[in-house]
Amino acid sequence: MTKTDLAKFKAVLEAKYAELAKVVRKREGITIEKSPDALDEVQNAAERELAIRNLDRESHLLRNVRAALQRINDGSYGVCLHCEEEISLKRLNAVPWTPLCIQCQEIADRNQEEGTETLEELLVNAA
Ligand SMILES: [Zn+2]
Repeated sequence: MTKTDLAKFKAVLEAKYAELAKVVRKREGITIEKSPDALDEVQNAAERELAIRNLDRESHLLRNVRAALQRINDGSYGVCLHCEEEISLKRLNAVPWTPLCIQCQEIADRNQEEGTETLEELLVNAA
């Protein structure tokens, strides 16, 4: 990977990070909203649940983006955390915050579907 590539991914990741951080902050505001009306309460509870679920997903992505920025700083960006092979530029262009090469991602996805091992566990084991 060239310095130009790295600078480009860093810019993309920083922009993504700022965008996600804003969304997550806004969602956190929704989750604590209270209404004195009982019917509103039901509606709010459903919205809260949805908001929390979205928040989970976005927080997860935010963590991945932050970890990728850390890898740029420590010089390990673009290397698969699992098998330590270089992740293809094509894949990084599509998913700049990915910690895994396509082969390891497929294994992780398969394991996740079977419920045997989550991606996090795979990463912990790889570390
Ligand atoms: Zn790999």
